Amino acid sequence: MIQSIRVQLLPNNKQRTKLFQFAGAARYAYNWALDKQMDNFREGRKIQTDSELRKAFTILRHSEENKWLLNVSNNVTKQAIKDLCIAYKNFFCKQKQPGYIKYSSKKVTHYTRIGKSLTVYDMNGHPKFRSKKNGDFRFYQDNVKIQFTGTHVKLESLAGSRRKNRQRLNWIRLAERNRIPVRAKYTNPRIAFDGERWWLSVGIQISRTLKPLRRLSFVCKKQQPARSEGIGIDLGIKDLAVLSDATKVGNINKTRAIRKLKKKRRRLQRQVSQKYQMNKKGDSYCKTSNLIKNEKQLLRINHRLANIRYNHVHQATTSIIKRKPSFVCLEDLNVRGMMKNRYLSEKIQEQNLYEFRRQIEYKAHWAKIPVVIADRWYSSSKTCVICGHVKKELNLLERTYICPVCGNIIDRDFQAALNLKRYGEAEQVKLANY
Ligand SMILES: [Zn+2]
Repeated sequence: MIQSIRVQLLPNNKQRTKLFQFAGAARYAYNWALDKQMDNFREGRKIQTDSELRKAFTILRHSEENKWLLNVSNNVTKQAIKDLCIAYKNFFCKQKQPGYIKYSSKKVTHYTRIGKSLTVYDMNGHPKFRSKKNGDFRFYQDNVKIQFTGTHVKLESLAGSRRKNRQRLNWIRLAERNRIPVRAKYTNPRIAFDGERWWLSVGIQISRTLKPLRRLSFVCKKQQPARSEGIGIDLGIKDLAVLSDATKVGNINKTRAIRKLKKKRRRLQRQVSQKYQMNKKGDSYCKTSNLIKNEKQLLRINHRLANIRYNHVHQATTSIIKRKPSFVCLEDLNVRGMMKNRYLSEKIQEQNLYEFRRQIEYKAHWAKIPVVIADRWYSSSKTCVICGHVKKELNLLERTYICPVCGNIIDRDFQAALNLKRYGEAEQVKLANY
């Protein structure tokens, strides 16, 4: 099993400069290869293979005007070209799929209006040029050469010199101690900048006896003896999750901290757009240092908001799995249907509902707890939990369910959770008999 870990890097100034240079080289190689392939594709030639491109790039690296590329590890540009080839392969695969539309209707109308013809580049799924403007700073490291200690990571040829006293520059400090196991099998190490900080993500091969699992069972032995019953989880907007054991996970977006941050963000957004208007010169904008500062602040707030929400979901899912339920039952969220409603789609994104489900699934998998996903058409909130009557119409605003048949009065979300638990139990029985 491969677990991927993301850790923040704490580079010093020299290292930071180097990181940007590496990312720049990766971007350059990617765009160079894309340009080549596009030429081939446009002219109807066969697209070049990975190794052909790499050979051509090596020649380019040694040319006089591209000397700067020699300061960057070969693996960085190599992988960038490989990534492009994969992107192209995916593009061709996508074209073969049924229902593939060559050009989106939005693009067609836009291009006819401005009187331009569509090119290969505009085709759906075609790889796009990476750009600095979009904040694209990322690169790859060789998974064998990368090294870790409890506190540092060694990146390849960051120092740009073999001299011993320069070697220290290769070691970048990590923000977390002992987060990444020292001698493990690493896969796909990637380094990326999010506009504020540098991050390293790496996959680690872990054995079946998992650490998190052991720690979990240790905690649970004290609290609960064996596996408790299954848990049905109703995900929603009012509360993040209502559980069938009558507990709730609140909506983090209603807390003071989040509300305050959102207010701050709104104010900043207004300031930024005002400054853009003020510095408008004809068709182009001029960025003042104050504007850049404000944009940075805005980015910070957005990261902070995302982190708080993410953390909330992590805590909730961990606490559910810690209870060691015999199974977990979730409903299948109707993605498309809900996303059409603009109000709902915003709330869903804020709540991280998909993230919740993803986390429950992998954490349950670690703890060997089965996950049941209820059928999309299973009406968990419309069914009476006592007599089984199904209400045809149920308004979103009706928070309590009143059964017209047996007179059962119950909180709508709690009832949904109970129904999901029952659904899960039935599925478990089916599986046992199978
Ligand atoms: Zn009823």
